Amino acid sequence: IKSKLPTTGTTIFTRMSALAAQYDALNLSQGYPDFDPPQALLEAMSRAIKEGNNQYAPMAGLPALREQLAGQLALHRNVNCNPDTEITIVPGATEGIYCSIMASVHSGDEVIVLDPCYDSYAPAIHMAGGRAIHVALQGDSFAPDWAAIEAALSPRSRMIVINSPHNPTGTTWSEADLQTLEKLAQQHNLLVCSDEVYEHLVYDGQQHHSVLQRPGLRERAFAHFSFGKTFSVTGWKTGYCVAPPALTAELRKVHQFVAFVAVTPVQQAIADFLTSDPGYPATLADTYQRRRDLFCHALEPSRFTLRPSQGTYFQLLDYSAISDLPDRQLSEEWTRSPGIASIPVSVFYQRAPRQGLLRFCFAKRDEVLLEAAEMLCKI
Ligand code: PMP
Ligand code: GLN
Repeated sequence: IKSKLPTTGTTIFTRMSALAAQYDALNLSQGYPDFDPPQALLEAMSRAIKEGNNQYAPMAGLPALREQLAGQLALHRNVNCNPDTEITIVPGATEGIYCSIMASVHSGDEVIVLDPCYDSYAPAIHMAGGRAIHVALQGDSFAPDWAAIEAALSPRSRMIVINSPHNPTGTTWSEADLQTLEKLAQQHNLLVCSDEVYEHLVYDGQQHHSVLQRPGLRERAFAHFSFGKTFSVTGWKTGYCVAPPALTAELRKVHQFVAFVAVTPVQQAIADFLTSDPGYPATLADTYQRRRDLFCHALEPSRFTLRPSQGTYFQLLDYSAISDLPDRQLSEEWTRSPGIASIPVSVFYQRAPRQGLLRFCFAKRDEVLLEAAEMLCKI
């Protein structure tokens, strides 16, 4: 068969988790919690199944959940949106992102992506017939390089993909960054695909800034969210996309033929859980900040340099004082011995990959984080 994605292999997350299993290593590579979601959510899920929510939901998602989400957006972000015409429940943010790109990128269109970036964006752009134009985030800060972004724009530019809080670096965008993006997107008539799946995982008293909060971005953005992150249920593969009615209508045209709907009992369970505990998402940051601090504190005696993690559940470790080896080789070597798996950051770049950084997921139980840190201190 003639491949449509000839240079794409199996994702790094699948590969590193498989290697971790093979060598019985601590798995801090693929991002997922190793602890259970809230008990009340598990109970809501079994109730939802037992009470008969087992057939197709409406294509856009259960109305009760969409209404809850509109309430959440008003509560946490002071954003108004119409649950019927602006919110679509999707089987994971990956599918939502894919559908938003498929729905709006035409053959020959260019889409700006900022490296290092999550691995699903470029293949989706390619499948839509578009061209991903990769622009690197800046040096050590990983802040957007506006001059380089502007220089990469052309009359064919159709969209820019952004991601804050950022996987894999753990950096977050400031209000000023969004303001600059707003001006640029308006000037160049760009659509914005905003990956905000880690919106509730922001630390040290900061606030998450959403594209939905700036009118000039709100009118041209698909904003993507994931219940996997917010409710510690990555395996439930459910999220949602918020976009203005005209963009939502196009997104749904694609979504109805990619997945059609998201899983019904998951939607009912999350709607019920949010009804009884609407403040839950706001409690997440404290629990994850505690995990981050536990991990980082335990790593103090190590030879690694810790990059600041302001959001997400990822911590970057700079190993350049320890080894000159490429990060892919080291992450595999350390998975085999001493037995700790991480994600090499270079795989998130298309060209001129940054070396010397490994990503560790701290969405893990305390004893796992402490054992991991102890191993890393001996390297
Ligand atoms: N975007 C980013 C930046 C992610 O880290 C993830 C992680 N899974 C996703 C999107 C996809 O989320 P989902 O599991 O809901 O598809
Ligand atoms: N988002 C998760 C991560 O960055 C993995 C998701 C996946 O395996 N596709 O580790």
